[in-house]
Amino acid sequence: MQCSPRAVGPLVCQHDIMDYDGLIIGGGIAGLSLAWRLGPQLSVVVVETEPSLAFHSSSRSARQMQPSYGPAPIQELTMRSRLMVEQISAELAAPILVPRPLLTLGTRTEVAALVDANDHLEALSHAETLERSPDLRAGVFEAAALDSTALEVDVPALIEFYRSQAVAAGTLVRTDSPVVSTVQNTNGTGFAVTAGDHSFTAGVVVNAAGAWADTVAQLCGARPCGLVPHRRSVAIVSTEHPVNAAGPMVEPADESYYYRPEGAHLLISPCESVPAEPGHAQVVDADIRELISRIDAVTTLGITGVERAWTGLRTHPADGLPVVGHDADVPNFFWLAGQGGYGIQTSAAMATLAAALITGTLEDDDDELAAALSPRRAGLG
Ligand SMILES: Cc1cc2nc3c(=O)[nH]c(=O)nc-3n(C[C@H](O)[C@H](O)[C@H](O)COP(=O)(O)OP(=O)(O)OC[C@H]3O[C@@H](n4cnc5c(N)ncnc54)[C@H](O)[C@@H]3O)c2cc1C
Repeated sequence: MQCSPRAVGPLVCQHDIMDYDGLIIGGGIAGLSLAWRLGPQLSVVVVETEPSLAFHSSSRSARQMQPSYGPAPIQELTMRSRLMVEQISAELAAPILVPRPLLTLGTRTEVAALVDANDHLEALSHAETLERSPDLRAGVFEAAALDSTALEVDVPALIEFYRSQAVAAGTLVRTDSPVVSTVQNTNGTGFAVTAGDHSFTAGVVVNAAGAWADTVAQLCGARPCGLVPHRRSVAIVSTEHPVNAAGPMVEPADESYYYRPEGAHLLISPCESVPAEPGHAQVVDADIRELISRIDAVTTLGITGVERAWTGLRTHPADGLPVVGHDADVPNFFWLAGQGGYGIQTSAAMATLAAALITGTLEDDDDELAAALSPRRAGLG
């Protein structure tokens, strides 16, 4: 069932059960960006297990927006999001996006193949690459592909924009409120949901539960989509020689690590993708130690120590695309999950698409994109 927009007005409260058009499970960037889009049209509540919002993957990313990254539907969502977030930056008079070009190192053959396959990339010669990134060791690559449209995102500012806009439109946000049980209304009008100490009824329940999305689906009587969390780590390290704060992000063609300036430090990731259980992902020290040796072999920066490190979960189904849309079998249950490594850079456009699907206002032009992300597509589960 699609949820028709209605005036956002006073909530119906009976015996402490609050009645909403939409209840979003998960207070990460997915849930909050959707509340930003839905809040002005529907009465919405966001419920989050943790005491604070964006506690899990959304605060553990590398904060990049790379138009050349990912399959075609992701690139489309990223381009749309970029325009929307530029508009948000202009409204805030604060730059949420700052240029952070992406240099992909490889052999001449690897670089030619990358550039052929991707409109966002231009080939750089060995000398041009060293000009852009003088701390690279000359012998470790032949050429590079440059995505000069890549950006770094001020993720806390973007999430705070989504949250504050949603709240200003009347959305209720409840932390410390894990959804522990749901019951479908017998008359097919939605769900009764218990979240922590709160009881709600909602016309549509949205599953924006990140690594827990398949668990939440089962709680709502839906079949899992085969979403698997994969751990990935990031460390902030200090260096012997100064880091050029405006330098590019650098990765090899096989994407087996990356590094980029983080102020006066370097942000590094071993790009591991190891299946994990939903939960508080932990750093594996050996991964970081091995990565430091690799980066020391590639640059002259000389890593001297680890300032801090963290691990988060990138959750996606087998085909690597997000799952966005109404569940195939359970009425009033909507998916906004499986964003993998793209949940920051696609958030604005993916939330807009999800809101249009929920309110039944999808543009015809977006049918193909919606079908590519649909929970009804072949191969899920
Ligand atoms: C190391 C790393 C680097 C990354 N770099 C990038 C990047 O550069 N660019 C990019 O676009 N993406 C990146 N990502 C991916 C990005 O972080 C994720 O795609 C995105 O944060 C997912 O957001 P989310 O809201 O779906 O998940 P989360 O932020 O995990 O939010 C889901 C929330 O649901 C809550 N929840 C779960 N179950 C329940 C329940 N039963 N009741 C109530 N609440 C519940 C959880 O507590 C959690 O807070 C990276 C990820 C990692 C780990």
